Amino acid sequence: MSDMYGNKLICKKTGKIIYTEREAGEIVNKCRRHKISQHRDKAYRPARKYYCKYCGHFHLTHFSKAKKKEYT
Ligand SMILES: [Zn+2]
Repeated sequence: MSDMYGNKLICKKTGKIIYTEREAGEIVNKCRRHKISQHRDKAYRPARKYYCKYCGHFHLTHFSKAKKKEYT
């Protein structure tokens, strides 16, 4: 989801990029395909979308990198 200048919108609460549900879904699907071909180990986590009640849009949880407790 972008503003009128084409910049990504960032959620003020979580600091994550804001996606529409459709955008988030497309990215998740891409990650799934990627996973099947290249990542078999358990440590690898595909991106998942989730609804953010603060901004009313969707974010992606990413590959279990750092920053775990940003939003509680
Ligand atoms: Zn949000």
